[in-house]
Amino acid sequence: MTNDTQSPALTDGFHLVIDALKHNDIDTIFGLVGIPITDLARLAQAEGMRFIGFRHEQHAGNAAAIAGYMTQKPGICLTVSAPGFLNGLTALANATTNCFPMILISGSSEREIVDLQQGDYEEMDQLNAAKPYAKASYRINKAEDIGIGIARAIRAAVSGRPGGVYLDLPAQLLGQSLDAEHGRKSLVRVVDPVPRQIPAPDSVQRALDLLKGAKRPLILLGKGAAYAQADAAIRALVEKSGIPYLPMSMAKGLLPDTHPQSASAARSYVLAEADVVLLIGARLNWLLSHGKGKTWGAPKQFIQIDISPTEIDSNVAIAAPVIGDIGSCVAALLTGIEAGFTKPSADWTGAINERKEKNLSKMAATLALNPSPMNFHSALRAIRDVLKTRPDINVVNEGANTLDYARSIIDMYEPRKRFDSGTWGIMGIGMGYAIGAAVTSGLPVVAIEGDSAFGFSGMELETICRYNLPVTTIVFNNNGVYRGTDVNPTGGKDVAPTVFVKNARYDKMIEAFGGIGYHVTTPEEMTKALLEAIAAGKPALINAVIDETAGTESGRLTNLNPQSAASKK
Ligand code: ADP
Repeated sequence: MTNDTQSPALTDGFHLVIDALKHNDIDTIFGLVGIPITDLARLAQAEGMRFIGFRHEQHAGNAAAIAGYMTQKPGICLTVSAPGFLNGLTALANATTNCFPMILISGSSEREIVDLQQGDYEEMDQLNAAKPYAKASYRINKAEDIGIGIARAIRAAVSGRPGGVYLDLPAQLLGQSLDAEHGRKSLVRVVDPVPRQIPAPDSVQRALDLLKGAKRPLILLGKGAAYAQADAAIRALVEKSGIPYLPMSMAKGLLPDTHPQSASAARSYVLAEADVVLLIGARLNWLLSHGKGKTWGAPKQFIQIDISPTEIDSNVAIAAPVIGDIGSCVAALLTGIEAGFTKPSADWTGAINERKEKNLSKMAATLALNPSPMNFHSALRAIRDVLKTRPDINVVNEGANTLDYARSIIDMYEPRKRFDSGTWGIMGIGMGYAIGAAVTSGLPVVAIEGDSAFGFSGMELETICRYNLPVTTIVFNNNGVYRGTDVNPTGGKDVAPTVFVKNARYDKMIEAFGGIGYHVTTPEEMTKALLEAIAAGKPALINAVIDETAGTESGRLTNLNPQSAASKK
């Protein structure tokens, strides 16, 4: 940080940003360089941080967001001004929507020119553009405020309900110099960034009373429960209460999917039949049919554990809100359960098991088929059997049918190992999440991708190869969005809107960057390729040829497609 011994030692905005991040144990930046932040990235690396450079900011942002989800520390994404910032903004909005802590740091152009709209290079009022999509947005204007500004951004990202924070760093700020001693003293180490929030005892009692009176109780675990890292307490609550549970997709593995109390294989039955539902870190949004309607059957009462009080009554009335951090809330409920609790009746658990067995054997029969060409089920069976042997592997999953089928077929055994399209149902998280997960965990990643979903982030294969990450990408290739058989009704020269180049060789893409490509057409070839790729620990891509007629429009979300007047006729 010092210059020379003659003149007073100086520091500058560049150094202070890096010093402030390191001071808070942040050791990795995901980003993409350019004006005015290239030197910031160089300096980060020179100062011992890891800088992972991407080909598009959205994927850097997604990597940062998933790193935040995995660690409870904000993932950092660094971008250039205006266009780079906007590319990163999608990831920031996605992080906020999913309650993942991240900080999008963007360089910005000269304030006085931007504010008078005098046409600067990459001119944009980024702070205001970010506001609607971020949990908090800040700009630092003075070098001596960098320490407090970064502390504020970190605390905003991880405390309470986590989310995305935007931090605006004008180019001028980075160049500002400051007395080094003054700068050092201006740094702030955030104390207790994720403070426990203890639930009120009466709210816990209300919840316990409701749970104890339930005839057909159900626990619903969301990704908030996985994020909270209260794994042992949650498992103890489930097991000591004997209540059947359902994991939301990213909560799969919080308890192993093979757990006898998992009601996943009887999902529709338990949602419809339960009389009291304990929500732990799960919102009653579209993914849960807003807590009402046919899915939920008869009226029921909800207990909801959440850190955000305004989540309560968001869609339906919540009979027993328990506000606090999941670790503290679950521990309090557990104490109450241990003091005396009658496990659910055999009527309830027996009925669930009956459904489970029926559905599981139906699924087993479908999975055992070996159609030619291979379909989603037979390909996923092969992947499932390989992943069963490596429960430590991170799984990324996106697509329409590829997401729906993989979610139900691929079992997870460990917490925070499954990363998918989440709350928005976003496509394009694939390679960003894969890189973020590989860098953060140091463990292999298998990204199970629809061919359409993969396209959004496919260029990041180069990033994966550049950093030699142990990521195996499997592209379910059925020649199109949803499937590859649609035709242009006019007979014109353009293909239908859902159709891609037929028989594309995605495996050749990764070979261009030195990775290993596989082209598979049978489950046996899939097994062999995946085992080999995982053992190699190197970047690999498996082009999995799937029956192009397989797949339904929008996967299981057909109901969300508005019908055109013409097709109604
Ligand atoms: P899913 O999509 O899996 O159902 P959601 O993202 O809808 O999960 O819900 C996560 C919920 O968890 C959010 O309402 C969020 O406020 C809450 N949450 C996140 N972290 C914590 C925590 N540490 N303690 C309590 N609640 C949390």
